[in-house]
Amino acid sequence: MIQTPLNAQLPTRLQALAHPLFEAKGIQAWLKREDENHPLIQGNKLYKLQFNLQTALAQNKTSIISFGGAHSNHLAALAAAGKLLGIPTQGIVRGQELAQRPETWSQTLIKAQQQGMTLQFISREAYRQKHSQAFLADLQARHPHAAIIPEGGTNQLAIAGLQPLAQAIDAQRPDWTHLFCPVGTGGTLAGLISHTQPHPNKTILGVCAIKQGDYLQNEIQSYLTPKPHNHWQLLTQFHGGGFGKISPQLMAFQAQIEAEFAIELDPVYTVKMMAAFFALLEQDRIPRGSKVLLLHTGGLQGRKQQKRN
Ligand SMILES: *Cc1c(COP(=O)(O)O)cnc(C)c1O
Repeated sequence: MIQTPLNAQLPTRLQALAHPLFEAKGIQAWLKREDENHPLIQGNKLYKLQFNLQTALAQNKTSIISFGGAHSNHLAALAAAGKLLGIPTQGIVRGQELAQRPETWSQTLIKAQQQGMTLQFISREAYRQKHSQAFLADLQARHPHAAIIPEGGTNQLAIAGLQPLAQAIDAQRPDWTHLFCPVGTGGTLAGLISHTQPHPNKTILGVCAIKQGDYLQNEIQSYLTPKPHNHWQLLTQFHGGGFGKISPQLMAFQAQIEAEFAIELDPVYTVKMMAAFFALLEQDRIPRGSKVLLLHTGGLQGRKQQKRN
């Protein structure tokens, strides 16, 4: 059990998955159930927020500001964490048009606001500046006592926060050979890479949920310490049409996998990771005898909304 101000249920279980294809290909697979790590701050966001929250509290910050789109699991998690820890949160949301039209808000935004998060909507143009020095300096000047966390929560504190997850994985299944992880900004993948001892039999595979994600290769590299980390790969061909997009085939695949393993996936990230795993397995790109771990990064609030609509 790791100490956390958020009372997480750690470590989560490894669920063994049985499937005729796994038998045929001579591999074993497990799902690492990080969707079960916390009722409110679910999945990888728990780890990514951990040190960011601790640091903000230790530095007596009076609020936490971050960024996201209308369906941002990161903003949802931050809102819930802020409420739990009693620190105000503010979400800067892409899409000025949403400001006047709350009836078009996603469940994610509605819930974030219900948790006490203040929402500020900015134009897509302004949102693109969110990483620029000038934008951040201006924001900090207007909120001098706020901690500012980047989009998706990805920063060095987030990457450091993934250590307990990498450790739990190694403790639970030291002989794993493949670890699949969904990728948005690449922060979670970078965290797993940096906290996993390189080993000739182990590969960490990031599955990009966004189209044309090749630029992330360099970004992920830049998060890693200078020592060589050649035990990972970024798979960019499984975005399924683009971020937040899901094809009818992928929806059918999701329904099938959910029924077969009695699990829930989210349509943005984990379903694409599963599809990538099955595709590589079918193409015989996962050798016999492999022990495959699939990281369930949570995000199920997005899924519930999809069902309701
Ligand atoms: C945010 C998120 C990701 C992507 O994490 P990154 O660290 O940005 O790559 C993956 N899965 C789920 C469910 C998420 O909410």
